[in-house]
Amino acid sequence: MGIAEWREQLKRGEVSARELTDQHLSRIEAVEPSINAYTEVTADRARADADRIDAARVAGEELPPLAGVPLAIKDNLCTRGVRTTCSSRMLENFVPPYESTVTGRLWQAGAVLLGKTNLDEFAMGSSTETSVFGPSRNPWNTEKVPGGSSGGSAAAVAAGECVGSLGSDTGGSIRQPAAFCGVVGLKPTYGRVSRYGLVAFASSLDQVGPFATNVADAAELLQVIAGEDPRDSTCLKAPVPDYRAALQQPVAGLKVGIVRECFEAEGLDPEVKASVMAAAAQLEALGCELVDVSCPRFNDGIATYYVIAPSEASANLARYDGVKYGYRAADAASLAEMTSRSRAEGFGDEVKRRILIGTYALSAGYVDAYYKKAQQVRTLIRRDFDRAFGAVDVLLTPTSPTTAFGFGAHSEDPLAMYLADLLTIPANMAGLPAISLPCGFDGAGLPIGVQLITGVLQEERLLQVAWHYEQAARVMQNRPAAALVP
Ligand code: GLN
Repeated sequence: MGIAEWREQLKRGEVSARELTDQHLSRIEAVEPSINAYTEVTADRARADADRIDAARVAGEELPPLAGVPLAIKDNLCTRGVRTTCSSRMLENFVPPYESTVTGRLWQAGAVLLGKTNLDEFAMGSSTETSVFGPSRNPWNTEKVPGGSSGGSAAAVAAGECVGSLGSDTGGSIRQPAAFCGVVGLKPTYGRVSRYGLVAFASSLDQVGPFATNVADAAELLQVIAGEDPRDSTCLKAPVPDYRAALQQPVAGLKVGIVRECFEAEGLDPEVKASVMAAAAQLEALGCELVDVSCPRFNDGIATYYVIAPSEASANLARYDGVKYGYRAADAASLAEMTSRSRAEGFGDEVKRRILIGTYALSAGYVDAYYKKAQQVRTLIRRDFDRAFGAVDVLLTPTSPTTAFGFGAHSEDPLAMYLADLLTIPANMAGLPAISLPCGFDGAGLPIGVQLITGVLQEERLLQVAWHYEQAARVMQNRPAAALVP
């Protein structure tokens, strides 16, 4: 059932918010031992939220748009009174005294908080393996990773442990786990959604966005979280259009750009390629025109990202010094020793690696050669997009070069892990909106995702094309039998 349908049933009193929440809490209890999508389940709060909605309905009050919809929130978004850990030892016991703007808007809209979801420590990773709470598992095959860094949010939606969730996407952390888990994941335009209360990773790239089982639900969630926020000066003042109304606008005649370089990428799994090409053919059958497009600078995306993101991370993570936040090493003899040991003990290896790379790239002798150069290449990537969007309305690529990989597959080789983001990073570099949605399955029954990208603030177009594809392809209706966790 989609959110719109649920809303009607709730209004008519055919179901209660409490029933929907209880169903999800039972599902969580049943599957969490094998999935580990949540860092914390807030069952009491969820029931209280739901009861309040039911009471409002009985009293004849008008119900807000997400009334009674049970959601899960990536554990790098601050929730007042509910632990926000970033899956790091550093913040293991951090209880924020304030609420992030996006989550505040969800509760205002009547949504129910089921709990916080697991991630790669500080959102740095592509597999959710670096969490201090242990890895989350892919609901389609628990021997496989769910992707990352928002792996918990994607797995929770895929396993039916919530109706939708929020994640954050710096280089692909919403879209790649969405692809691995067979759900819809949307990264909005940079600045479309407030980041007040999102724990900062790389400030020129981070963006919050929704996960859902279908495109219409993703539109419902975006509708609520999008829009201006006086508390975030990087948040755009642009008005928020009616995303739900955009879905059914006809797509015939739209030009869809097939990004050549993305289909020639090294390490692109042939099954992924075939499935995404079939998705393109499906759009053609719907009346879209397929256009061959070249974006040669996309190939520099990873190298550029892994200078810019760690540089910004090293600055953002400087606040974790054992004084202002989180973990503090015990029995240090001096302030310097306390700070240094708090960081050494509080952060995991990947976070330390990023801080070291970033500090190096920003240091006086190297900032021009690395950081500044990376920003220049970033401009070239953006120009590839500008040129492409001069000729087409939407770009189409695979979301990730492979389907979900096994645990430990890339643990020894960070560079191999970084390649998982090859196709998602360009959209972050240019601040563009992009969506991943299921387009098929590989021979082992693992989901494959297709990525669509549009120009700045063209989320309506993005959702419209995605919705039409979803309706026509019916990928999830035709999924391999018994593939998901029971
Ligand atoms: N996997 C990428 C990284 O490790 C992207 C992470 C993200 O989008 N938060 O940095």
